[in-house]
Amino acid sequence: MSGGDKLDFEIRPNPAPVSAADRAALLANPGFGRVFTDHMVTIRYADGKGWYDARVEARAPIPMDPAAAVLHYAQEIFEGLKAYRTADGGVTMFRPEANAARFATSARRMAMPVLPEEAFVESLRKLVEVDQGWIPEIEDSSLYLRPFMFASEVFLGVRPANEYLYVVIASPAGAYFSGGVKPVTVWVSPDYTRAAPGGTGAAKCGGNYAASLAAQAEAIEHGCDQVVFLDAVERRFVDELGGMNVFFVYDDDTVVTPPLTGTILPGITRESVLTLAANAGHRIEERPVSFADWQADAASGRLREVFACGTAAVVTPIGQVRFPDGEFLVGGGGPGRVTMALRQQLVDLQRGKTADPHSWVRRI
Ligand code: PMP
Repeated sequence: MSGGDKLDFEIRPNPAPVSAADRAALLANPGFGRVFTDHMVTIRYADGKGWYDARVEARAPIPMDPAAAVLHYAQEIFEGLKAYRTADGGVTMFRPEANAARFATSARRMAMPVLPEEAFVESLRKLVEVDQGWIPEIEDSSLYLRPFMFASEVFLGVRPANEYLYVVIASPAGAYFSGGVKPVTVWVSPDYTRAAPGGTGAAKCGGNYAASLAAQAEAIEHGCDQVVFLDAVERRFVDELGGMNVFFVYDDDTVVTPPLTGTILPGITRESVLTLAANAGHRIEERPVSFADWQADAASGRLREVFACGTAAVVTPIGQVRFPDGEFLVGGGGPGRVTMALRQQLVDLQRGKTADPHSWVRRI
């Protein structure tokens, strides 16, 4: 594809899809990330040729040469968003253009070619159209979409590859919190950091997640659900969680989140929450929050609520905070009023239950 040409997708229906009965059994309790739909999207890229062979085809293993560059130097990026079944039987996606833009930013940071944003959004639409029977009907469930791209060139030299494969797969996901929203406990990592200035923290590349796993394992060892990363320079300011951004709600109705300085992922939920909170009359601040202030303000009661947010769990209250020297509760440990109100607003919007003044919801 060159110069704004539209990419045409060839549809090759899966000749042996999962039977309706087996699919219904899988959709009754899909969990997360283990059940997949019948199809995938693939688009190839080669230097000099551009994007080509856009297809919707049967989901299948991808043959890979042992010298494929991604297996050695991790030139890989991905995205994550959801398609929802609405009450009227329709299907929506939430802000897919924002994922397209972030994917393009990630690609540039990792010296990869940029898939035109319209082609990215169109690839999601095509897959959801053909696999919409895989969207679970149970409360709070969704179809998780995972676009990704990797260096497929067979070459062991360290340089940007000249061949890539873009793929989209889809996976039905059950409710994140079955039995109601529960506050999570977080571990503030004393040893590990996630991203340094000038690094890849703002890109959604697989390597960031590989680097976070030891810290996440440490969190689990300490009985926590998620790790909180502090800044890599002073180890003083809160950056984000392993897979979510973080917000602080103070007693003067201010809602604060760390600024996008290049070391945290610019979450689409984060941006949406900032907008919704401003509309709800809260004062919004994007500014650094130190861990010392988090602790002191939780103790004084000035800090009322802390929550994490991201595509997977939408908005999640943080009840308890642990670190090597101790632990403390925020706002008594229960879910806060502002947290739950923002969560509800976002969920209702995503599922097409309320008006959409920002035009965030795409009907399929
Ligand atoms: N931070 C990190 C490190 C993440 O992996 C995610 C999930 N993509 C987020 C924040 C939240 O981003 P979003 O709201 O776009 O899902």
